[in-house]
Amino acid sequence: MVTPPPLKNDCFALPPGVDWTPVDDALGQLKSALRCVVSTEMVDIMDARDRFVAHDVPAPRASPPKANSAVDGYGFAGADINEEDVVRLSMHPERAAAGVPMQSAVSKGQAVRILTGAQLPEGVDTVVLQEDVATDGQQVVFHGPVKVGANTRKAGEDVNPKDIVLTAGQRLRSTDLSLAASVGIAEIECFRALRIGVLSTGDEVCDVTQTAAPHQIYDANRPMLLSLISAWGFVALDLGHVNDDRTELRERLDHAQESVDVLLTSGGASAGDEDHLSALLSETGSITFWRIAVKPGRPLAMGMWGKMPIFGLPGNPVAAATCAMIFARPSFNILAGGAWMVPRSYLVKAGFEKRKKSGRREYLRARLNGEEVDVFKSEGSGRISGLSWANGFVELPDHEITIKPGDCVKFIPFDSFN
Ligand code: AMP
Ligand code: MG
Repeated sequence: MVTPPPLKNDCFALPPGVDWTPVDDALGQLKSALRCVVSTEMVDIMDARDRFVAHDVPAPRASPPKANSAVDGYGFAGADINEEDVVRLSMHPERAAAGVPMQSAVSKGQAVRILTGAQLPEGVDTVVLQEDVATDGQQVVFHGPVKVGANTRKAGEDVNPKDIVLTAGQRLRSTDLSLAASVGIAEIECFRALRIGVLSTGDEVCDVTQTAAPHQIYDANRPMLLSLISAWGFVALDLGHVNDDRTELRERLDHAQESVDVLLTSGGASAGDEDHLSALLSETGSITFWRIAVKPGRPLAMGMWGKMPIFGLPGNPVAAATCAMIFARPSFNILAGGAWMVPRSYLVKAGFEKRKKSGRREYLRARLNGEEVDVFKSEGSGRISGLSWANGFVELPDHEITIKPGDCVKFIPFDSFN
């Protein structure tokens, strides 16, 4: 097991002098600077879904291992009966069933009762469907000609030994586990599951299990971020909440470093008096105060705390959700041992009107209803009800644009981040 070296301190650095970084440049920077931060381990196939494969895995065995019947029917040597119109064969006394190899061979002039999945006995290379056969138990009669090899599966027709069945960096889905199991792979070397901590900041923020004082608001970010992380297939660790207190925050970051691979914080990422996360990250010299030309999404601070990368999300739940999905989610794939991910998107008809100026890319809370997409009535980034109403984003380009009902717009379903 080899633990990868920590990320470089400047991996979040943006080119100096750049004022507003376009979204694509920001994503490009993350894509090129981030590396896998987790070591590898052997994982039981039953626990391997959502893990990233550490290296290419060849098939130890062919699938199917032996030629077998694809149907329930009668097996014989195809070459024997090729041109005949009515074929009569005598019944072999044994029966070929799946998992029960036959004791004797099938000779010329004979047919054997064979079931789906049964290994072809010696002397058999062709099977006729039971529905196409008449038999009295002694004789088997059917119409020819029958193509040699009909209704059989060849050894290795799905996978040959040494074929690569799992590829380095691939994220394992249920169907991939089926393929691995079919060739006898019970354990897979994978990257350790990425542990992502979630920490909320702010004197006004109160845990939802407590009773908020009049001057407080409930923590709407932590339940959202923790459950997003689980839905994305990573390990989510609740690191609670911290007040706007620099010493306390410093201690919490030091502590987080021991238990997580990457940290998502919300709040305190601007340049205000009480924005202690950005202040602390500035001390380490690793922060990039990401002035990304995106709406919603300011402020987003990214930096290293020791060996731990931090995505300092805005406190605003709408902006926090947007930044988590657009910037953090694809980054997590790389940190976890995979490739950069691009969420699936679709061009759909707009059911709304909108005019936007040039400069910032916009992510509107959107809801796809059948063929048409609508956007939330208010763009205010404090409106959490819009997040809950939406089932995805409409992404509007950096440049100026006027959208009229019926125009095509880019819709990114929230599900496509999973
Ligand atoms: P900040 O980024 O800390 O300046 O916070 C921006 C806005 O988001 C403020 O109105 C905060 O009260 C609000 N906010 C910060 N954290 C949370 C949270 N965990 N849940 C709900 N609102 C929050
Ligand atoms: Mg705050």
